[in-house]
Amino acid sequence: MTKNRVISSRKIESEALEQLEEISGVNIYACYQCGNCSASCPAVEFMDIPPHQVIRLAQLGFIDDLTGSETPWICAACITCTVKCPRGVDIAKVMEGLRQIVLRSDFEHINIREIDEKLRKKLPQIALIGNFRKTIL
Ligand code: SF4
Repeated sequence: MTKNRVISSRKIESEALEQLEEISGVNIYACYQCGNCSASCPAVEFMDIPPHQVIRLAQLGFIDDLTGSETPWICAACITCTVKCPRGVDIAKVMEGLRQIVLRSDFEHINIREIDEKLRKKLPQIALIGNFRKTIL
Protein backbone atom coordinates (compact mmCIF):
# COMPACT_ATOMS: atom_id res chain seq x y z
CA MET A 1 0.00 0.00 0.00
CA THR A 2 1.43 3.40 -0.92
CA LYS A 3 1.67 6.11 1.71
CA ASN A 4 -0.71 9.03 1.39
CA ARG A 5 1.20 12.25 1.71
CA VAL A 6 -0.39 15.62 2.18
CA ILE A 7 1.68 18.51 0.91
CA SER A 8 0.81 22.06 1.86
CA SER A 9 2.45 25.47 1.43
CA ARG A 10 3.18 25.66 5.16
CA LYS A 11 6.73 25.09 6.33
CA ILE A 12 7.00 21.46 7.26
CA GLU A 13 7.26 20.81 10.98
CA SER A 14 9.39 17.76 11.47
CA GLU A 15 11.80 16.88 14.25
CA ALA A 16 13.99 14.99 11.78
CA LEU A 17 14.08 17.97 9.42
CA GLU A 18 15.06 20.28 12.29
CA GLN A 19 17.79 17.80 13.21
CA LEU A 20 19.06 17.76 9.63
CA GLU A 21 19.13 21.57 9.49
CA GLU A 22 20.88 21.75 12.86
CA ILE A 23 23.55 19.19 11.99
CA SER A 24 24.20 20.51 8.49
CA GLY A 25 23.74 24.20 9.21
CA VAL A 26 22.09 24.48 5.80
CA ASN A 27 18.93 26.40 4.94
CA ILE A 28 17.39 23.84 2.61
CA TYR A 29 14.53 26.20 1.75
CA ALA A 30 16.97 28.33 -0.25
CA CYS A 31 16.88 25.70 -3.00
CA TYR A 32 14.72 26.55 -6.03
CA GLN A 33 15.26 23.23 -7.82
CA CYS A 34 17.41 24.37 -10.73
CA GLY A 35 19.06 20.93 -10.84
CA ASN A 36 22.67 22.17 -11.17
CA CYS A 37 23.74 19.95 -8.27
CA SER A 38 22.47 16.77 -9.92
CA ALA A 39 23.76 17.81 -13.35
CA SER A 40 27.27 18.33 -11.98
CA CYS A 41 27.49 15.35 -9.60
CA PRO A 42 30.05 12.77 -10.83
CA ALA A 43 28.32 9.99 -8.85
CA VAL A 44 24.67 10.76 -9.68
CA GLU A 45 24.25 7.71 -11.94
CA PHE A 46 24.86 5.46 -8.93
CA MET A 47 22.41 7.26 -6.64
CA ASP A 48 18.82 6.19 -6.10
CA ILE A 49 17.78 9.80 -5.41
CA PRO A 50 19.67 12.61 -7.21
CA PRO A 51 20.90 15.56 -5.10
CA HIS A 52 18.21 18.10 -6.16
CA GLN A 53 15.51 15.58 -5.23
CA VAL A 54 17.25 14.96 -1.89
CA ILE A 55 16.82 18.65 -1.14
CA ARG A 56 13.20 18.67 -2.33
CA LEU A 57 12.29 15.64 -0.22
CA ALA A 58 14.02 17.27 2.75
CA GLN A 59 12.00 20.48 2.17
CA LEU A 60 8.86 18.36 2.29
CA GLY A 61 9.97 16.63 5.49
CA PHE A 62 10.46 13.16 4.03
CA ILE A 63 13.66 12.56 6.00
CA ASP A 64 12.95 8.84 6.49
CA ASP A 65 12.99 8.37 2.72
CA LEU A 66 16.41 10.03 2.64
CA THR A 67 17.97 8.16 5.56
CA GLY A 68 16.79 4.93 3.91
CA SER A 69 18.36 5.93 0.61
CA GLU A 70 21.74 4.88 -0.77
CA THR A 71 22.47 8.41 -1.98
CA PRO A 72 24.18 9.84 1.16
CA TRP A 73 26.50 6.83 1.18
CA ILE A 74 27.27 7.05 -2.54
CA CYS A 75 28.12 10.76 -2.18
CA ALA A 76 31.90 11.14 -2.31
CA ALA A 77 31.77 14.57 -0.64
CA CYS A 78 33.62 16.08 -3.61
CA ILE A 79 31.52 19.28 -3.08
CA THR A 80 31.01 19.86 -6.82
CA CYS A 81 27.28 20.27 -6.07
CA THR A 82 27.99 22.84 -3.38
CA VAL A 83 30.25 24.85 -5.70
CA LYS A 84 27.70 24.78 -8.56
CA CYS A 85 24.66 25.80 -6.48
CA PRO A 86 23.52 29.34 -7.39
CA ARG A 87 21.66 29.59 -4.07
CA GLY A 88 24.57 28.71 -1.80
CA VAL A 89 22.98 25.47 -0.62
CA ASP A 90 25.80 23.31 0.75
CA ILE A 91 24.46 19.97 -0.43
CA ALA A 92 27.58 18.09 0.66
CA LYS A 93 26.81 19.16 4.24
CA VAL A 94 23.22 17.97 3.84
CA MET A 95 24.55 14.55 2.73
CA GLU A 96 26.85 14.46 5.77
CA GLY A 97 23.91 15.47 7.97
CA LEU A 98 21.88 12.55 6.63
CA ARG A 99 24.78 10.17 7.29
CA GLN A 100 25.06 11.52 10.81
CA ILE A 101 21.34 11.00 11.49
CA VAL A 102 21.71 7.34 10.48
CA LEU A 103 24.94 6.89 12.42
CA ARG A 104 23.48 8.49 15.55
CA SER A 105 20.59 6.05 15.52
CA ASP A 106 21.05 2.71 17.26
CA PHE A 107 22.23 0.99 14.08
CA GLU A 108 25.83 -0.22 14.34
CA HIS A 109 27.54 -0.65 11.00
CA ILE A 110 30.72 -2.15 12.40
CA ASN A 111 31.41 -3.42 15.88
CA ILE A 112 35.03 -2.62 16.62
CA ARG A 113 35.12 -5.33 19.30
CA GLU A 114 34.46 -7.95 16.61
CA ILE A 115 37.61 -7.03 14.67
CA ASP A 116 40.59 -9.21 15.55
CA GLU A 117 42.89 -7.23 17.88
CA LYS A 118 46.03 -7.90 15.80
CA LEU A 119 44.28 -6.77 12.66
CA ARG A 120 42.80 -3.75 14.45
CA LYS A 121 46.28 -2.58 15.44
CA LYS A 122 47.54 -2.90 11.88
CA LEU A 123 44.62 -1.14 10.18
CA PRO A 124 45.12 2.51 9.29
CA GLN A 125 42.93 4.64 11.58
CA ILE A 126 41.47 6.50 8.63
CA ALA A 127 40.23 3.20 7.16
CA LEU A 128 38.42 2.36 10.39
CA ILE A 129 36.92 5.81 10.70
CA GLY A 130 35.88 5.76 7.05
CA ASN A 131 34.10 2.46 7.60
CA PHE A 132 32.37 3.65 10.74
CA ARG A 133 31.06 6.62 8.80
CA LYS A 134 30.18 5.14 5.45
CA THR A 135 29.76 1.36 5.38
CA ILE A 136 26.30 -0.17 5.35
CA LEU A 137 26.36 -3.92 5.90
FE1 SF4 B 1 18.73 23.50 -5.34
FE2 SF4 B 1 21.23 24.47 -5.41
FE3 SF4 B 1 20.69 21.97 -6.33
FE4 SF4 B 1 19.87 24.16 -7.70
S1 SF4 B 1 22.01 23.52 -7.34
S2 SF4 B 1 18.66 22.27 -7.24
S3 SF4 B 1 19.34 25.58 -6.01
S4 SF4 B 1 20.49 22.69 -4.19
